[in-house]
Amino acid sequence: MSVSIGSSLKDLQAAESKLLIQTYERYPLLFVSGKGVYLTDEQGNQYLDLLSGIGVCALGYNHPAVTEVIAKQSAELLHTSNLFYHRGTTELAIRLTEITGLDRVFFCNSGTEAWEAALKLARAHAGRLRSEGKHLGTKFLALEHSFHGRTMGSVATTHKLKYRAPFAPVMPDVEFVAFNDVTALRAAFSPEVCAIAMETVQGEGGINPVSEEFLSAARELCDSTGALLILDEIQSGMGRTGKWCAYQHYGIKPDVTTLAKPMAGGIPVGAMLCTEEAARAFTPGMHGTTFGGNPLACAVANAVIDEIRQAGLLDHILSTGEYFRSQILELKAKYPAIVEVRGLGLMIGVELDSDELAKSILAGMMSRRILINRTHETVLRFLPPFLITREHVDQTIIALNELLAEHTSTNSSHSSLLAGEPIHG
Ligand SMILES: *Cc1c(COP(=O)(O)O)cnc(C)c1O
Repeated sequence: MSVSIGSSLKDLQAAESKLLIQTYERYPLLFVSGKGVYLTDEQGNQYLDLLSGIGVCALGYNHPAVTEVIAKQSAELLHTSNLFYHRGTTELAIRLTEITGLDRVFFCNSGTEAWEAALKLARAHAGRLRSEGKHLGTKFLALEHSFHGRTMGSVATTHKLKYRAPFAPVMPDVEFVAFNDVTALRAAFSPEVCAIAMETVQGEGGINPVSEEFLSAARELCDSTGALLILDEIQSGMGRTGKWCAYQHYGIKPDVTTLAKPMAGGIPVGAMLCTEEAARAFTPGMHGTTFGGNPLACAVANAVIDEIRQAGLLDHILSTGEYFRSQILELKAKYPAIVEVRGLGLMIGVELDSDELAKSILAGMMSRRILINRTHETVLRFLPPFLITREHVDQTIIALNELLAEHTSTNSSHSSLLAGEPIHG
């Protein structure tokens, strides 16, 4: 039976509440188009987007580098399967190995699939070493407040109990280590560990960059046994922090990294990259995907990388991110409600002293038509398109300043109309 519905926000809300499995709490906003760093709702209102679809729309909306290649590639070839060759995978593999410094790539369709591939590779790698007479166990060390996705393996390495507990038993053999605690990491490490796995900059956990000391200890421990150092760059990679991968700020190279979110500017794609040595663990037939590395996703990812290079966006991200943080730090000096400002490049978190305040600021920003996100209860998260300018930053700071001033004078009676659960991702 077909369902007939209207197209207003209210109509869609009513229909979706009956038709969709209720996994998301959406904000009551209905977007119909976008251009540059602005989204337009069904009434024609424009929103400054500082979230970019949770770090995905790196080149904003309706960017010619993206729309033109989609039109061209869709007229040529969308899909062939991994049974055959096409140019896109080769061209993208060349670019990704250049920008990550790693040797080989496996293509997939999302972040969690990239992470799942990395976990499987680590288990297979340990198995290969065991078959050569060395001992390496099956245990993973992950970090508290980590987020790696929603498949059974990814969720097993994700710290929040709410995401794991309903699906127990998830993959066993994962131990969570306190964030940036080198002593705890050393204590948990042994030849039973096949991989230390973490985000270089935790995203959902509240924008927490790992310390240099912690990352180099992890590198050194893995080198001592042959375990793999796996760095999740799904949110922090592809230029978000002003380098292609956040680990390049540290001068440390992982054995394995994962990329996804901004990789093809809004088209679903993911990649797991690794060293020549680690890649030996996978042989034909051991892992695969039907859609992974399809011609459309590859063509768009190639175009996104080329545009980031040609437009000099990495430098732009560094300088705009620096400016953004310096402006927020000025607010911090004025408002004690700002506890900490963290991040790298255009991946910025502002920790506030209460989740009520974070909810109210988020609602206030939305009513001023600026989209941001709240994560880890008290942290305002900014993941703007790479194209934002100082003017957009200034506009944001003015709005934040007004809202914080309001909060300071009334001590919070602001509407929390739009503030729901944080968006996860
Ligand atoms: C979003 C995210 C994932 C999961 O990616 P999906 O595409 O949602 O499956 C994994 N790791 C990190 C760090 C992420 O931010």
